[in-house]
Amino acid sequence: MSVSSAALDRSVCSPLPVLGRDVTVPLVTGGEVSYAALDYAASAPALQRVWDDVAAYAPYYGSVHRGAGYLSQLSTDLFENARRTVAGFLDCRDGDQVVFTRSTTDSLNLLAAALPAGCEVFVFETEHHASLLPWRDARVTVLNAPRTPGEAVATLEHALAARDPRGPALVCVTGASNVTGELWPVRELAAAARAHGARTVLDAAQLAPHHPVSVRDLDVDWVAFSGHKLYAPFGSGVLAGRADWLTAAEPYLAGGGASRRVSRREDGGVDVEWHESAARHEAGSPNVIGAYSIASACKALTEAGFDTLVARERYLIGKVRSGLAEVPEVRILSLFGDDAPRVGVISFVVEGWNSSHFAAALSAEYGIGVRDGLFCAHPLVRTLLGSDPQAQGECGAPEAGPGEKSLNAIRVSFGAGT
Ligand code: PLP
Repeated sequence: MSVSSAALDRSVCSPLPVLGRDVTVPLVTGGEVSYAALDYAASAPALQRVWDDVAAYAPYYGSVHRGAGYLSQLSTDLFENARRTVAGFLDCRDGDQVVFTRSTTDSLNLLAAALPAGCEVFVFETEHHASLLPWRDARVTVLNAPRTPGEAVATLEHALAARDPRGPALVCVTGASNVTGELWPVRELAAAARAHGARTVLDAAQLAPHHPVSVRDLDVDWVAFSGHKLYAPFGSGVLAGRADWLTAAEPYLAGGGASRRVSRREDGGVDVEWHESAARHEAGSPNVIGAYSIASACKALTEAGFDTLVARERYLIGKVRSGLAEVPEVRILSLFGDDAPRVGVISFVVEGWNSSHFAAALSAEYGIGVRDGLFCAHPLVRTLLGSDPQAQGECGAPEAGPGEKSLNAIRVSFGAGT
């Protein structure tokens, strides 16, 4: 098969602004090349609105919560307004907290550090490592990959039924897979958790950039997402949700900003009174540009309207998938089947090709940027590929010959344009 016959022809991407943005990339060797960025699931380019807002604020950049100076006051206002904007974007309940973090990974590690003593955690093996791995101090039950959304709910219910309902428990679910793009039955999983006395955290890293997320409607306890996947690539993330476990926990980081009062004790030690608000977990000088850019992206997406974005993306998903289906050597990876609702994240393998070599050829020869590898979801990708769990396969894997199984995959992903 020649790569040029593959369905990932650039003509698929150019007519609509919603698909992978064309960017002009400077080359390390000099000169520049026009490039179609189709790796939104890793990091999405900033929306123009976000660039504009950040550029307008940049000359007035100052430190948050640091006194009466004009720049600090302005930055504090923007930071606290950003919190309110995010709370509105996620349709949070009264009393919920919005904590600004560095990323989804950071948000979920923060929650892991705030779990009450004896908390059990339930998580599917299909999760991104950011959702699978942070729960190191808890008793973790890893659930097998389901093959339908209904099976996911039944598997969770079965596992929860076996636990002692008197103790605290947390279910961690992803809204949309970063491998298959498939939507998970979040509302049903959260309801199952609630029925068994467990709480739910939603990993919305891949869901929030594509679909509206309502904490109230989904009835989840917390939501985590990353700015750089929500078209706001300035190093910030969010953990939003119930205040009680967060307020009861030790601060995630100790330092200025998280502490309300610090005094010396007579015995020479130090007494600290920590904030009870979100600031408790935001020690140090917060990333005000990151928070501000997330709020800007939330506003831009809300104004564009998710109905429009979802409809355009559905059209493009169909176009890319049907194009890929015309190439006999291509196998699209899916857990829930072809008809499952999904976001613009599509992974596949090409028979006879090492996925890393294929991705490198797309980039170097056709100016199309995709992702190759196991996408920080090793158990899921290996299940989908049916490959040896010991196989490393991130990069440099041997080429799979005809009839042989690939060790890694290729992912194309897209979202809202500028
Ligand atoms: N969860 C999912 C579903 C993801 O796709 C990712 C990143 O790809 C993460 C969590 C981690 O996000 P970050 O690297 O921004 O912490």
